[in-house]
Amino acid sequence: MSLYRDTGVVLRVHKLGEADRIITLLTRRHGKVRAVAKGVRRTTSRFGARLEPFGHVDVQFYTGRTLDVVTQVQTVDAFALPIVGDYQAYTAAAAIVETADRLAAEEEQPALKLYLLVCGALRALAGGDRDASLVLDAFLLRAMAFAGWEPALTECARCGEHGPHAAFNVQAGGLLCTRCRIPGSVHPAPDVLVLMAGLLHGDWDAAEATTQAVRRDASGLVAAHLQWHLERQLRSLPFVERRAREAPLTAALGSNPHEPEPADPDDTGDGRETTTADVPGKAEVAGAAEGARSAGDPRDAGT
Ligand SMILES: [Zn+2]
Repeated sequence: MSLYRDTGVVLRVHKLGEADRIITLLTRRHGKVRAVAKGVRRTTSRFGARLEPFGHVDVQFYTGRTLDVVTQVQTVDAFALPIVGDYQAYTAAAAIVETADRLAAEEEQPALKLYLLVCGALRALAGGDRDASLVLDAFLLRAMAFAGWEPALTECARCGEHGPHAAFNVQAGGLLCTRCRIPGSVHPAPDVLVLMAGLLHGDWDAAEATTQAVRRDASGLVAAHLQWHLERQLRSLPFVERRAREAPLTAALGSNPHEPEPADPDDTGDGRETTTADVPGKAEVAGAAEGARSAGDPRDAGT
């Protein structure tokens, strides 16, 4: 039995069987980890409450044959309590963990920057000192920079000419100069671009001086930019990455770690009762975890 420890943020939980849960964490050193927490839905569980979404925890795992198993949990920051009690903070936090889950597509690929961004954003939401939607947009912009999708907010996205430019185009990657401008571009107010740059670079004084209308427009552009890139990533990236990581491609075909899970992704475990048929089956989850971790099926090694 091999043990390891790491600090992580709980991104989501799924019910498994009668009393167990599968916990998805974004950890400091091991990237995204999915592990079984046994017995956590029993009232006598010692660490059930610490493994709720948004919890920042120090966890000891043992490496299981398929999924790792949680053996100890200590709370590092109790972000969940203040966040769940505030609707604005809760919806922002839910979007943050869902985005982090999608950006950290591969399990156990280190994503320290993303982990730090998630911790920082949840800490700000739990503290309640900043506008929740600004915290969310700052996180999304920086998370997109982590993913390599930082929108061009001063120079032209195509030719690099210094701005200011007026046209913004999501597909093109941000601002476009008059020569590069393409149909379908929008023309946000200059303050909208100032706000987005402020959020990206942590200039909170500039960000907090903006009006609600400017914030709404910026949120719309940020969401559109994120959406476009996530959809493009879903279409191409997982397949390419999986090919690169798991040399025998055929090994990946049987177990797709990116397959959408049948359970409600927002299920925090305290909503409707799900039967075991609603959650990913043990074998399916085990197969996905195995596929993400192992070098592949030895039968296919020669192909
Ligand atoms: Zn240009």
